[in-house]
Amino acid sequence: MVEVRNRDLTNPFHIVQGQLRAAVDNLQLGEDVYEFLKEPMRVVEVAIPVHRDDGRLTTFIGYRAQHTDAIGPTKGGIRFHPDVSLDEVKGLSMWMTFKTAVMGLPYGGAKGGVICNPGELSARELEELSRGYVRRLAAVLGPELDIPAPDVNTNPRVMGWMLDEYDRVRGQNTPGFITGKPLVLGGSAGREEATGRGVVYTVLEAMKRLGLDPRRSTAAIQGFGNVGSHTAEFLHQNGVKVVAVEDVRGGAMNPDGLDVPALLAYAHRNGTVKGFPGSRNIGTEELFALDVDVLVPAALENQITSTVARNVKARIIAEAANGPTTPDGDDILHQRGVFIIPDILCNAGGVTVSYFEWVQNTQGYYWTEQEVNSRLERLMVTAFQHVYDTMQERRLTMREASYVIAVHRVAEACEARGWLRLPTTNEIPAPALHLIGRDRPV
Ligand code: GLU
Repeated sequence: MVEVRNRDLTNPFHIVQGQLRAAVDNLQLGEDVYEFLKEPMRVVEVAIPVHRDDGRLTTFIGYRAQHTDAIGPTKGGIRFHPDVSLDEVKGLSMWMTFKTAVMGLPYGGAKGGVICNPGELSARELEELSRGYVRRLAAVLGPELDIPAPDVNTNPRVMGWMLDEYDRVRGQNTPGFITGKPLVLGGSAGREEATGRGVVYTVLEAMKRLGLDPRRSTAAIQGFGNVGSHTAEFLHQNGVKVVAVEDVRGGAMNPDGLDVPALLAYAHRNGTVKGFPGSRNIGTEELFALDVDVLVPAALENQITSTVARNVKARIIAEAANGPTTPDGDDILHQRGVFIIPDILCNAGGVTVSYFEWVQNTQGYYWTEQEVNSRLERLMVTAFQHVYDTMQERRLTMREASYVIAVHRVAEACEARGWLRLPTTNEIPAPALHLIGRDRPV
Protein backbone atom coordinates (compact mmCIF):
# COMPACT_ATOMS: atom_id res chain seq x y z
CA MET A 1 0.00 0.00 0.00
CA VAL A 2 1.13 3.54 -0.62
CA GLU A 3 2.45 5.54 2.30
CA VAL A 4 -0.57 6.76 4.24
CA ARG A 5 0.65 6.12 7.79
CA ASN A 6 -1.15 8.09 10.50
CA ARG A 7 -3.58 9.19 7.87
CA ASP A 8 -7.27 8.72 7.42
CA LEU A 9 -7.82 6.09 4.75
CA THR A 10 -11.09 7.67 3.69
CA ASN A 11 -9.84 11.26 3.43
CA PRO A 12 -9.44 12.10 -0.32
CA PHE A 13 -6.68 14.62 0.42
CA HIS A 14 -4.62 12.03 2.33
CA ILE A 15 -5.35 9.36 -0.27
CA VAL A 16 -4.14 11.46 -3.20
CA GLN A 17 -1.03 12.49 -1.24
CA GLY A 18 -0.25 8.78 -0.89
CA GLN A 19 -0.79 8.25 -4.62
CA LEU A 20 1.47 11.20 -5.43
CA ARG A 21 4.13 9.87 -3.05
CA ALA A 22 4.10 6.45 -4.74
CA ALA A 23 4.44 7.94 -8.24
CA VAL A 24 7.27 10.29 -7.20
CA ASP A 25 9.12 7.32 -5.67
CA ASN A 26 8.51 5.11 -8.68
CA LEU A 27 9.87 7.78 -11.01
CA GLN A 28 12.69 8.62 -8.58
CA LEU A 29 11.85 12.28 -9.00
CA GLY A 30 13.12 13.26 -5.56
CA GLU A 31 11.60 14.78 -2.45
CA ASP A 32 11.15 18.30 -3.85
CA VAL A 33 8.55 17.18 -6.36
CA TYR A 34 6.44 15.62 -3.61
CA GLU A 35 6.95 18.63 -1.36
CA PHE A 36 5.93 21.00 -4.15
CA LEU A 37 2.80 19.14 -5.27
CA LYS A 38 1.47 17.81 -1.97
CA GLU A 39 -0.74 20.86 -1.28
CA PRO A 40 -3.06 22.92 -3.54
CA MET A 41 -1.43 26.23 -4.47
CA ARG A 42 -4.56 28.19 -3.48
CA VAL A 43 -7.63 27.41 -1.41
CA VAL A 44 -10.44 29.90 -0.88
CA GLU A 45 -13.32 29.60 1.58
CA VAL A 46 -16.39 31.76 1.11
CA ALA A 47 -19.59 32.44 3.02
CA ILE A 48 -22.65 32.75 0.77
CA PRO A 49 -25.81 34.31 2.23
CA VAL A 50 -29.05 33.12 0.65
CA HIS A 51 -32.50 34.66 1.24
CA ARG A 52 -34.80 31.72 1.84
CA ASP A 53 -38.33 31.54 0.48
CA ASP A 54 -39.73 31.62 4.04
CA GLY A 55 -38.02 34.96 4.77
CA ARG A 56 -35.05 33.61 6.77
CA LEU A 57 -31.43 34.05 5.71
CA THR A 58 -29.03 31.10 5.57
CA THR A 59 -25.28 31.39 5.10
CA PHE A 60 -23.69 28.51 3.19
CA ILE A 61 -19.98 27.70 3.22
CA GLY A 62 -18.25 27.12 -0.11
CA TYR A 63 -14.71 26.29 -1.21
CA ARG A 64 -12.52 26.42 -4.28
CA ALA A 65 -9.18 24.61 -4.30
CA GLN A 66 -6.71 25.19 -7.13
CA HIS A 67 -3.95 22.62 -7.07
CA THR A 68 -1.38 23.70 -9.64
CA ASP A 69 -1.38 25.82 -12.78
CA ALA A 70 1.97 24.48 -14.00
CA ILE A 71 0.49 23.12 -17.24
CA GLY A 72 -2.36 25.57 -17.77
CA PRO A 73 -5.37 27.23 -16.14
CA THR A 74 -6.87 25.09 -13.38
CA LYS A 75 -10.01 23.14 -14.25
CA GLY A 76 -12.65 21.21 -12.35
CA GLY A 77 -16.25 20.96 -11.27
CA ILE A 78 -18.29 22.40 -8.42
CA ARG A 79 -20.35 20.07 -6.23
CA PHE A 80 -23.32 20.83 -4.01
CA HIS A 81 -23.51 18.24 -1.24
CA PRO A 82 -23.97 18.10 2.56
CA ASP A 83 -20.71 16.11 2.96
CA VAL A 84 -18.49 18.64 1.14
CA SER A 85 -15.44 19.47 3.25
CA LEU A 86 -12.21 21.38 2.79
CA ASP A 87 -10.12 18.21 2.62
CA GLU A 88 -12.52 16.64 0.14
CA VAL A 89 -12.27 19.64 -2.19
CA LYS A 90 -8.48 19.75 -1.82
CA GLY A 91 -8.15 16.06 -2.62
CA LEU A 92 -10.52 16.32 -5.58
CA SER A 93 -8.56 19.30 -6.96
CA MET A 94 -5.40 17.18 -6.98
CA TRP A 95 -7.22 14.32 -8.70
CA MET A 96 -8.21 16.84 -11.40
CA THR A 97 -4.53 17.79 -11.91
CA PHE A 98 -3.62 14.15 -12.48
CA LYS A 99 -6.72 13.48 -14.62
CA THR A 100 -6.00 16.31 -17.04
CA ALA A 101 -2.31 15.36 -17.06
CA VAL A 102 -2.88 11.72 -17.96
CA MET A 103 -5.07 12.87 -20.85
CA GLY A 104 -2.55 15.48 -21.94
CA LEU A 105 -5.02 18.38 -21.64
CA PRO A 106 -3.50 21.85 -21.24
CA TYR A 107 -4.90 22.33 -17.72
CA GLY A 108 -4.12 22.06 -14.05
CA GLY A 109 -6.59 20.82 -11.48
CA ALA A 110 -9.22 22.55 -9.32
CA LYS A 111 -12.43 21.67 -7.51
CA GLY A 112 -15.19 23.59 -5.79
CA GLY A 113 -17.92 22.67 -3.41
CA VAL A 114 -20.72 24.12 -1.32
CA ILE A 115 -21.94 22.43 1.88
CA CYS A 116 -25.67 22.22 1.25
CA ASN A 117 -28.48 19.83 0.49
CA PRO A 118 -29.74 20.98 -2.93
CA GLY A 119 -32.80 18.74 -2.56
CA GLU A 120 -34.01 21.07 0.21
CA LEU A 121 -33.57 24.25 -1.85
CA SER A 122 -36.11 25.76 -4.23
CA ALA A 123 -35.01 26.67 -7.76
CA ARG A 124 -34.83 30.33 -6.75
CA GLU A 125 -32.72 29.58 -3.67
CA LEU A 126 -30.42 27.39 -5.76
CA GLU A 127 -29.98 30.19 -8.27
CA GLU A 128 -29.10 32.68 -5.52
CA LEU A 129 -26.59 30.20 -4.09
CA SER A 130 -25.00 29.56 -7.51
CA ARG A 131 -24.71 33.26 -8.28
CA GLY A 132 -23.41 34.01 -4.76
CA TYR A 133 -20.69 31.38 -5.13
CA VAL A 134 -19.43 32.98 -8.35
CA ARG A 135 -19.64 36.55 -6.97
CA ARG A 136 -17.50 35.60 -3.99
CA LEU A 137 -14.91 33.81 -6.15
CA ALA A 138 -14.96 35.86 -9.38
CA ALA A 139 -11.53 37.33 -8.65
CA VAL A 140 -9.86 33.90 -8.84
CA LEU A 141 -11.93 32.42 -11.69
CA GLY A 142 -11.70 32.97 -15.45
CA PRO A 143 -11.11 31.27 -18.81
CA GLU A 144 -7.34 31.68 -18.47
CA LEU A 145 -7.27 31.27 -14.70
CA ASP A 146 -9.64 28.64 -13.34
CA ILE A 147 -12.53 27.13 -15.30
CA PRO A 148 -15.44 25.53 -13.38
CA ALA A 149 -17.80 22.79 -14.59
CA PRO A 150 -20.57 20.53 -13.25
CA ASP A 151 -19.95 17.87 -10.61
CA VAL A 152 -22.17 16.08 -8.07
CA ASN A 153 -25.64 17.76 -7.96
CA THR A 154 -24.80 20.58 -10.37
CA ASN A 155 -25.89 20.68 -14.01
CA PRO A 156 -26.10 22.87 -17.14
CA ARG A 157 -28.79 25.04 -15.54
CA VAL A 158 -26.50 25.86 -12.61
CA MET A 159 -23.66 26.53 -15.09
CA GLY A 160 -25.94 28.95 -16.99
CA TRP A 161 -26.62 30.98 -13.82
CA MET A 162 -22.94 30.95 -12.92
CA LEU A 163 -21.92 32.10 -16.40
CA ASP A 164 -24.44 34.95 -16.28
CA GLU A 165 -23.18 36.06 -12.86
CA TYR A 166 -19.58 36.06 -14.06
CA ASP A 167 -20.57 38.06 -17.15
CA ARG A 168 -22.36 40.60 -14.94
CA VAL A 169 -19.36 41.00 -12.65
CA ARG A 170 -17.00 41.42 -15.63
CA GLY A 171 -19.39 43.45 -17.77
CA GLN A 172 -18.70 41.30 -20.83
CA ASN A 173 -19.54 37.94 -22.39
CA THR A 174 -17.03 35.23 -21.50
CA PRO A 175 -18.39 31.86 -22.67
CA GLY A 176 -15.06 30.10 -21.93
CA PHE A 177 -15.40 30.94 -18.22
CA ILE A 178 -17.30 27.73 -17.48
CA THR A 179 -17.97 24.41 -19.23
CA GLY A 180 -20.93 22.07 -19.16
CA LYS A 181 -23.21 25.04 -19.84
CA PRO A 182 -26.41 24.92 -21.93
CA LEU A 183 -25.85 24.59 -25.68
CA VAL A 184 -27.51 27.93 -26.36
CA LEU A 185 -24.86 29.70 -24.21
CA GLY A 186 -21.94 28.04 -26.00
CA GLY A 187 -22.06 24.57 -24.48
CA SER A 188 -20.62 21.69 -26.49
CA ALA A 189 -22.61 19.02 -28.22
CA GLY A 190 -22.02 15.74 -26.39
CA ARG A 191 -20.82 17.28 -23.10
CA GLU A 192 -23.71 15.95 -20.98
CA GLU A 193 -23.12 12.35 -22.08
CA ALA A 194 -19.31 12.67 -22.24
CA THR A 195 -18.33 11.16 -18.89
CA GLY A 196 -20.55 8.09 -19.35
CA ARG A 197 -19.42 7.73 -22.96
CA GLY A 198 -15.77 7.90 -21.89
CA VAL A 199 -16.36 5.32 -19.13
CA VAL A 200 -17.74 2.91 -21.72
CA TYR A 201 -14.85 3.49 -24.15
CA THR A 202 -12.44 2.45 -21.37
CA VAL A 203 -14.60 -0.55 -20.41
CA LEU A 204 -14.60 -1.77 -24.02
CA GLU A 205 -10.80 -1.40 -24.15
CA ALA A 206 -10.43 -3.38 -20.90
CA MET A 207 -12.73 -6.09 -22.26
CA LYS A 208 -10.59 -6.40 -25.38
CA ARG A 209 -7.45 -6.92 -23.27
CA LEU A 210 -9.19 -9.49 -21.04
CA GLY A 211 -10.84 -11.35 -23.90
CA LEU A 212 -14.40 -10.53 -22.83
CA ASP A 213 -17.16 -10.18 -25.41
CA PRO A 214 -19.41 -7.18 -24.59
CA ARG A 215 -22.42 -9.05 -25.99
CA ARG A 216 -21.89 -11.82 -23.46
CA SER A 217 -21.04 -9.57 -20.52
CA THR A 218 -23.03 -8.19 -17.63
CA ALA A 219 -22.70 -4.99 -15.60
CA ALA A 220 -23.98 -3.39 -12.40
CA ILE A 221 -23.90 0.35 -11.72
CA GLN A 222 -23.98 2.20 -8.40
CA GLY A 223 -25.31 5.74 -8.94
CA PHE A 224 -27.81 6.85 -11.54
CA GLY A 225 -27.05 10.55 -11.89
CA ASN A 226 -25.56 12.06 -15.04
CA VAL A 227 -22.61 9.64 -15.10
CA GLY A 228 -24.33 6.41 -14.03
CA SER A 229 -27.35 6.84 -16.30
CA HIS A 230 -25.30 7.62 -19.42
CA THR A 231 -22.93 4.76 -18.62
CA ALA A 232 -25.96 2.43 -18.51
CA GLU A 233 -27.17 3.82 -21.83
CA PHE A 234 -23.86 3.29 -23.66
CA LEU A 235 -23.15 -0.11 -22.10
CA HIS A 236 -26.59 -1.19 -23.29
CA GLN A 237 -25.96 0.22 -26.78
CA ASN A 238 -22.78 -1.85 -26.93
CA GLY A 239 -24.61 -5.04 -26.08
CA VAL A 240 -23.63 -5.30 -22.40
CA LYS A 241 -26.46 -6.61 -20.23
CA VAL A 242 -27.05 -4.15 -17.37
CA VAL A 243 -28.50 -6.30 -14.57
CA ALA A 244 -28.55 -3.88 -11.63
CA VAL A 245 -28.50 -0.16 -10.94
CA GLU A 246 -28.89 1.80 -7.75
CA ASP A 247 -29.45 5.43 -6.77
CA VAL A 248 -29.81 7.23 -3.43
CA ARG A 249 -33.44 6.12 -3.09
CA GLY A 250 -33.12 2.44 -3.99
CA GLY A 251 -32.15 -0.07 -6.64
CA ALA A 252 -33.46 -2.08 -9.58
CA MET A 253 -32.24 -5.59 -10.35
CA ASN A 254 -33.16 -8.07 -13.06
CA PRO A 255 -30.81 -11.01 -13.71
CA ASP A 256 -32.10 -11.22 -17.32
CA GLY A 257 -31.03 -7.61 -17.94
CA LEU A 258 -32.86 -4.33 -17.40
CA ASP A 259 -34.62 -2.65 -20.33
CA VAL A 260 -32.28 0.36 -20.19
CA PRO A 261 -34.20 2.80 -22.47
CA ALA A 262 -37.38 2.12 -20.45
CA LEU A 263 -35.42 2.45 -17.20
CA LEU A 264 -34.02 5.84 -18.27
CA ALA A 265 -37.53 7.08 -19.04
CA TYR A 266 -38.80 5.66 -15.73
CA ALA A 267 -36.01 7.31 -13.72
CA HIS A 268 -36.63 10.60 -15.52
CA ARG A 269 -40.34 10.48 -14.63
CA ASN A 270 -40.02 9.22 -11.05
CA GLY A 271 -36.69 10.66 -9.89
CA THR A 272 -35.46 7.16 -8.95
CA VAL A 273 -34.88 3.72 -10.44
CA LYS A 274 -36.59 2.11 -7.44
CA GLY A 275 -39.83 0.36 -8.31
CA PHE A 276 -38.96 -0.04 -12.01
CA PRO A 277 -41.49 -2.58 -13.37
CA GLY A 278 -40.03 -6.07 -13.80
CA SER A 279 -37.19 -5.45 -11.33
CA ARG A 280 -36.66 -6.09 -7.66
CA ASN A 281 -35.05 -3.69 -5.18
CA ILE A 282 -31.34 -4.10 -4.44
CA GLY A 283 -29.03 -2.47 -1.87
CA THR A 284 -25.43 -1.31 -2.20
CA GLU A 285 -23.84 -4.26 -0.42
CA GLU A 286 -25.61 -6.80 -2.61
CA LEU A 287 -24.92 -4.82 -5.80
CA PHE A 288 -21.16 -4.73 -5.19
CA ALA A 289 -21.14 -8.50 -4.53
CA LEU A 290 -23.01 -9.44 -7.73
CA ASP A 291 -21.49 -12.00 -10.05
CA VAL A 292 -21.16 -9.61 -13.01
CA ASP A 293 -18.30 -8.87 -15.40
CA VAL A 294 -18.21 -5.12 -14.85
CA LEU A 295 -18.91 -3.12 -11.72
CA VAL A 296 -19.30 0.64 -12.12
CA PRO A 297 -19.19 2.79 -8.98
CA ALA A 298 -20.67 6.06 -10.29
CA ALA A 299 -21.57 7.85 -7.05
CA LEU A 300 -19.25 9.21 -4.35
CA GLU A 301 -15.89 8.44 -2.73
CA ASN A 302 -15.02 5.51 -0.47
CA GLN A 303 -17.68 3.06 -1.60
CA ILE A 304 -15.39 0.06 -2.14
CA THR A 305 -13.81 -0.45 1.27
CA SER A 306 -11.79 -3.52 2.27
CA THR A 307 -14.98 -5.23 3.47
CA VAL A 308 -16.77 -4.55 0.20
CA ALA A 309 -13.69 -5.49 -1.86
CA ARG A 310 -13.53 -8.97 -0.29
CA ASN A 311 -16.95 -9.78 -1.78
CA VAL A 312 -16.39 -8.37 -5.26
CA LYS A 313 -16.81 -11.01 -7.99
CA ALA A 314 -16.51 -8.73 -11.03
CA ARG A 315 -13.57 -8.96 -13.46
CA ILE A 316 -13.49 -5.22 -14.13
CA ILE A 317 -14.14 -2.21 -11.92
CA ALA A 318 -14.70 0.96 -13.90
CA GLU A 319 -14.28 3.93 -11.56
CA ALA A 320 -16.80 6.37 -12.99
CA ALA A 321 -16.88 8.29 -9.70
CA ASN A 322 -13.88 10.13 -8.26
CA GLY A 323 -12.15 8.13 -5.52
CA PRO A 324 -14.73 5.33 -5.15
CA THR A 325 -12.14 2.82 -3.83
CA THR A 326 -10.31 3.22 -0.51
CA PRO A 327 -6.55 2.41 -0.52
CA ASP A 328 -7.08 -0.79 1.51
CA GLY A 329 -10.00 -1.78 -0.73
CA ASP A 330 -7.70 -1.16 -3.69
CA ASP A 331 -5.05 -3.51 -2.28
CA ILE A 332 -7.57 -6.31 -1.81
CA LEU A 333 -8.98 -5.91 -5.32
CA HIS A 334 -5.44 -6.01 -6.69
CA GLN A 335 -4.61 -9.20 -4.74
CA ARG A 336 -7.79 -10.75 -6.06
CA GLY A 337 -6.85 -9.96 -9.65
CA VAL A 338 -9.65 -7.49 -10.39
CA PHE A 339 -8.84 -5.23 -13.35
CA ILE A 340 -9.37 -1.64 -12.16
CA ILE A 341 -9.82 1.22 -14.60
CA PRO A 342 -8.73 4.05 -12.28
CA ASP A 343 -10.94 7.12 -11.89
CA ILE A 344 -8.46 9.63 -13.33
CA LEU A 345 -8.55 7.67 -16.59
CA CYS A 346 -12.03 6.10 -16.51
CA ASN A 347 -14.06 9.27 -15.89
CA ALA A 348 -11.83 11.68 -17.84
CA GLY A 349 -14.34 11.89 -20.72
CA GLY A 350 -16.18 14.71 -18.93
CA VAL A 351 -13.22 17.04 -18.58
CA THR A 352 -12.00 16.07 -22.05
CA VAL A 353 -15.19 17.33 -23.67
CA SER A 354 -15.05 20.32 -21.30
CA TYR A 355 -11.70 21.05 -22.95
CA PHE A 356 -13.33 20.71 -26.38
CA GLU A 357 -16.04 23.11 -25.20
CA TRP A 358 -13.46 25.68 -24.08
CA VAL A 359 -11.58 25.32 -27.39
CA GLN A 360 -14.83 25.90 -29.30
CA ASN A 361 -15.61 28.95 -27.12
CA THR A 362 -12.14 30.34 -27.79
CA GLN A 363 -12.60 29.89 -31.55
CA GLY A 364 -16.28 30.89 -31.58
CA TYR A 365 -16.76 27.97 -33.94
CA TYR A 366 -18.74 24.87 -33.04
CA TRP A 367 -18.31 21.19 -33.85
CA THR A 368 -20.94 18.57 -34.60
CA GLU A 369 -21.75 15.96 -31.98
CA GLN A 370 -20.15 13.34 -34.18
CA GLU A 371 -16.89 15.29 -34.31
CA VAL A 372 -16.91 15.68 -30.53
CA ASN A 373 -17.58 11.98 -29.98
CA SER A 374 -14.96 10.74 -32.40
CA ARG A 375 -12.27 13.02 -30.93
CA LEU A 376 -13.30 11.86 -27.45
CA GLU A 377 -13.07 8.22 -28.47
CA ARG A 378 -9.61 8.69 -29.93
CA LEU A 379 -8.32 10.41 -26.81
CA MET A 380 -9.82 7.87 -24.40
CA VAL A 381 -8.56 4.87 -26.40
CA THR A 382 -5.07 6.40 -26.74
CA ALA A 383 -4.89 7.25 -23.04
CA PHE A 384 -6.06 3.76 -22.08
CA GLN A 385 -3.47 2.10 -24.31
CA HIS A 386 -0.78 4.34 -22.94
CA VAL A 387 -1.62 3.55 -19.29
CA TYR A 388 -1.90 -0.15 -20.15
CA ASP A 389 1.54 -0.18 -21.84
CA THR A 390 3.11 1.71 -18.91
CA MET A 391 1.52 -0.78 -16.49
CA GLN A 392 3.09 -3.69 -18.37
CA GLU A 393 6.47 -2.09 -18.98
CA ARG A 394 6.96 -0.93 -15.41
CA ARG A 395 5.03 -3.79 -13.73
CA LEU A 396 2.58 -1.50 -12.03
CA THR A 397 -1.17 -1.51 -11.44
CA MET A 398 -3.33 0.51 -13.85
CA ARG A 399 -3.74 3.13 -11.12
CA GLU A 400 -0.03 3.40 -10.42
CA ALA A 401 0.71 3.60 -14.15
CA SER A 402 -1.74 6.45 -14.67
CA TYR A 403 -0.16 8.41 -11.78
CA VAL A 404 3.33 7.77 -13.13
CA ILE A 405 2.36 9.31 -16.49
CA ALA A 406 0.48 12.19 -14.88
CA VAL A 407 3.01 13.10 -12.18
CA HIS A 408 5.84 12.93 -14.67
CA ARG A 409 4.12 15.40 -16.96
CA VAL A 410 3.28 17.84 -14.15
CA ALA A 411 6.84 17.63 -12.82
CA GLU A 412 8.20 18.29 -16.31
CA ALA A 413 6.05 21.42 -16.57
CA CYS A 414 7.29 22.59 -13.16
CA GLU A 415 10.86 22.11 -14.33
CA ALA A 416 10.24 23.87 -17.64
CA ARG A 417 8.96 26.89 -15.69
CA GLY A 418 12.06 26.87 -13.54
CA TRP A 419 10.13 25.96 -10.39
CA LEU A 420 11.90 22.68 -9.76
CA ARG A 421 15.04 20.87 -10.78
CA LEU A 422 14.50 17.23 -11.76
CA PRO A 423 16.96 14.38 -11.77
CA THR A 424 17.43 12.76 -15.19
CA THR A 425 14.91 9.96 -15.27
CA ASN A 426 13.98 7.16 -17.58
CA GLU A 427 11.78 8.09 -20.53
CA ILE A 428 8.05 8.09 -19.89
CA PRO A 429 5.95 8.30 -23.05
CA ALA A 430 3.88 11.45 -23.52
CA PRO A 431 0.21 11.59 -22.45
CA ALA A 432 -2.74 10.93 -24.73
CA LEU A 433 -3.29 14.23 -26.55
CA HIS A 434 0.40 14.48 -27.38
CA LEU A 435 0.50 10.99 -28.80
CA ILE A 436 -2.36 11.92 -31.11
CA GLY A 437 -0.54 15.09 -32.12
CA ARG A 438 2.37 12.97 -33.33
CA ASP A 439 0.02 10.96 -35.46
CA ARG A 440 -2.16 13.09 -37.73
CA PRO A 441 -4.76 15.74 -36.92
CA VAL A 442 -8.28 14.38 -36.26
N1 GLU B 1 -16.58 17.19 -12.51
C1 GLU B 1 -16.01 16.43 -13.58
C2 GLU B 1 -14.81 15.65 -13.10
O1 GLU B 1 -14.69 15.34 -11.93
C3 GLU B 1 -15.74 17.28 -14.81
C4 GLU B 1 -14.79 18.42 -14.60
C5 GLU B 1 -14.70 19.38 -15.80
O2 GLU B 1 -15.33 19.14 -16.80
O3 GLU B 1 -13.96 20.37 -15.65
O4 GLU B 1 -13.97 15.26 -13.85
